[in-house]
Amino acid sequence: MAANWQRGVLKAMGVKNHPVEVVDVADLAPWYRRIRLSAPGFLDELAVHPTIWIRLWVPALEKDKVVQRGYTVVDPDPGAGEFSLDFVLHEPTGPAASWAKNAAVGTTAEIAHTPQKLALDPELQTLVLAGDITALPAIVTLLRAAPSTASKYVVIQDSHDDRDALGIPQDARTTLAWSDDDPSGAGLVNALQSSVPLEGFDPGRAYLWAAGERKLVKAVREHARGQLGLGRHRQHAQNYWIAGHSAG
Ligand SMILES: Cc1cc2nc3c(=O)[nH]c(=O)nc-3n(C[C@H](O)[C@H](O)[C@H](O)COP(=O)(O)OP(=O)(O)OC[C@H]3O[C@@H](n4cnc5c(N)ncnc54)[C@H](O)[C@@H]3O)c2cc1C
Repeated sequence: MAANWQRGVLKAMGVKNHPVEVVDVADLAPWYRRIRLSAPGFLDELAVHPTIWIRLWVPALEKDKVVQRGYTVVDPDPGAGEFSLDFVLHEPTGPAASWAKNAAVGTTAEIAHTPQKLALDPELQTLVLAGDITALPAIVTLLRAAPSTASKYVVIQDSHDDRDALGIPQDARTTLAWSDDDPSGAGLVNALQSSVPLEGFDPGRAYLWAAGERKLVKAVREHARGQLGLGRHRQHAQNYWIAGHSAG
């Protein structure tokens, strides 16, 4: 399989690729698949923290080369040398979604580390988490890492009837709201406005994290800066994918 320029650049930067092998495939919904991977030694070099993701190298759909896509590390078990990746099996498909659709026990691929670090303020009073379904794996890591005293507001855009089957962890301090598909991002922002109470909201003790399709992320970022008054260090909004564009 030919390597592409991205792979060359990453190699020149010292980014190491690790082999992985599929050890389990589970469909949480017909359109959302969890794949457990064995990657001996990989987690030993990884400082696991909320939202951590890896680059997954998969074959391109048409050309004889591999391409990389970002996926969030789910349920890492360093002792067993295993972790999972959750795939949205989207249409139109792409190399990563296709790889996931065809994956079975024994399927192999490669992954690479990504440099990153996110730590939540232990004094956090309000945690706001928003995005589309690609952000769900990272949102779950943030819910698990949040201080127990923080109020957590989760707003996710998705219209599937069986979206509740994904099993989002919730405690007494978690408020979960869904917003139906609206590519402009306005629907997600409306749902945030209905969900997060502004009374008593302290922007100095709040944090907003958002990810997903670019337009949604832009709308949430503007809401965070504007109505919620969150400064640069009190929010992180990341484009995960762009409608109509393959990640390359
Ligand atoms: C840091 C990071 C972490 C991520 N974590 C996850 C994760 O845990 N789980 C996950 O599923 N995704 C995650 N993503 C998003 C994922 O990398 C992209 O959706 C990626 O484009 C999928 O690659 P592909 O090869 O399947 O499709 P591509 O070749 O990139 O795209 C093919 C077509 O599908 C469309 N498309 C891409 N993604 C979607 C989607 N989700 N829904 C509808 N249409 C889409 C594109 O617009 C394009 O038209 C993450 C992205 C980043 C940057």
